[in-house]
Amino acid sequence: MKRLLAVIFAAALALSSCSLVKQTVQLEAMDTFMKFEYYGSEELGEKLSQSVKSLDKELSAVDENGRIYKLNQKGSGKLSYDAEKLLKESLALCESTDGELDVTVLPVVKEWGFINQEYRVPASTEIKKALKKVDYRKISLRNGSVKLNGCQLDLGAVAKGYAADKSVKLLSENGVETALLNLGGTIAAVGSKPDGTLWKVGVADPANPSDYVGFVSCKDKVVATSGGYERYFEQYGKRYIHIIDPKTGLPVDNGVASVTIISDSGVLGDALSTALFVMGLKKAQSYHRERGGFGFVILTEDKKAYVSRDICADFTLSDKDYELKILD
Ligand code: AMP
Ligand code: MG
Repeated sequence: MKRLLAVIFAAALALSSCSLVKQTVQLEAMDTFMKFEYYGSEELGEKLSQSVKSLDKELSAVDENGRIYKLNQKGSGKLSYDAEKLLKESLALCESTDGELDVTVLPVVKEWGFINQEYRVPASTEIKKALKKVDYRKISLRNGSVKLNGCQLDLGAVAKGYAADKSVKLLSENGVETALLNLGGTIAAVGSKPDGTLWKVGVADPANPSDYVGFVSCKDKVVATSGGYERYFEQYGKRYIHIIDPKTGLPVDNGVASVTIISDSGVLGDALSTALFVMGLKKAQSYHRERGGFGFVILTEDKKAYVSRDICADFTLSDKDYELKILD
């Protein structure tokens, strides 16, 4: 009898530890809607949401109370632990992408009105003038102190990725093994689904972003997408998107509609989704071939889905209007 009771007690204990409650947290941060679903304690939701909100304030180039905003006004200053870590990682990615990602592109982004939403097509002289202030190589970072040397910082292309990585870390430190974090286009799949199957992360249809062109089956991955559809304006029938080519100062117009990166790191995924968008299909393919460490799905305006071979078994195309092309 004693033995039976011990077995029942042990079974009940095991059941209570794995039958965790599903929690959902929704918040608005980093200029987007975020939704976190995880299996764990309710209090953790508050911690997660506070952590992302404080990162937002810390990393925003737009929030007048934010540190980066103030840094851009002063030209130099001390960075927080998170901002320093992110800037270091980002500068390395600016270098490796040959400046297709450039965290100093802000003056040009401003000219096109993407900061204050007063969209306009600037004159080429205005673009040239703004481009003089764009060069990530001028940023000097030493022991947490940064000098901008005439540039301005915009971590908008990488901040959501960093917030994803930090949130995943927070969950894992608190024993959470199952979660799906959606940071508006940057999605972290933690572990697998509660039933043990893989998460299915949708790749948005650029023509109708609430719909999907296909999905990526994965576990313990970050799936980060940059889409021209996320922010843009139109003038005389032409569309101008928020992703800027730092070499020309013009919104990218190269036939790419969206880039999705599948990798282990939010920062890498977020940075490369922006950078490969600027590169265009051919250069993106060579970059992937040379560097590796990530997979991609590139959707083009002529309705092709280019998928890197390393992840093609994980991608399912569901939109019949798209043609699947696998790239080596
Ligand atoms: P994402 O949505 O991650 O592709 O990031 C786009 C945001 O990053 C834009 O709204 C700009 O603030 C900024 N941005 C645009 N073009 C670039 C670029 N080539 N390199 C770095 N940041 C960029
Ligand atoms: Mg990005």
